[in-house]
Amino acid sequence: MIVWEVIRHKQPKVQWHRTVLGALSIPKQSFITWLVVLNRLPTKDRMLKWGCQVEATCILCGIELESRDHLFWACSYSRRVWGMVVQACGVQLLHNSWDDLLGWIQRAGKGKTLKATIVRLAWNSFNYYVWMERNGRLHQKEPKLDAEVFDLIKHDFKWRLLGCRRCSFPGSCIAEAWGLQ
Ligand SMILES: [Zn+2]
Repeated sequence: MIVWEVIRHKQPKVQWHRTVLGALSIPKQSFITWLVVLNRLPTKDRMLKWGCQVEATCILCGIELESRDHLFWACSYSRRVWGMVVQACGVQLLHNSWDDLLGWIQRAGKGKTLKATIVRLAWNSFNYYVWMERNGRLHQKEPKLDAEVFDLIKHDFKWRLLGCRRCSFPGSCIAEAWGLQ
């Protein structure tokens, strides 16, 4: 938590900080997202550069080299999870790259609307659970289905939003899709 506080206060001008640190965000999830954006997680492509002997294939799809862009954008497993997130946000879109995804998050996650709040929180949760799933599989934990990860994302911030006095969602399709009604 101390490291988190240092990062939070030392880099306040980074463009995407509001997306990462938006209201109602879960600190441990924002911290992972921050490392994703900075490309500072120990993904296998980086470990290889450091001279580590690792099996470099992505453990989620078993096909491609594991990198930040692969794990959090290109991986077929992650894309299925993210597809469920954007569908629940009422959006149909194809991102051409991880940078493209980040740009979209910055635009769609801007503001205080319910949709923007959910986009921010869901992206934080998505990054966190993809990383947890990757780590879990590396440590021989039972793999989760893509739909199970989406359920974790879906329920993670539900009670935060329901408990938020300024949030109300009468007749909202997005609220219904996220189980807020
Ligand atoms: Zn993969």
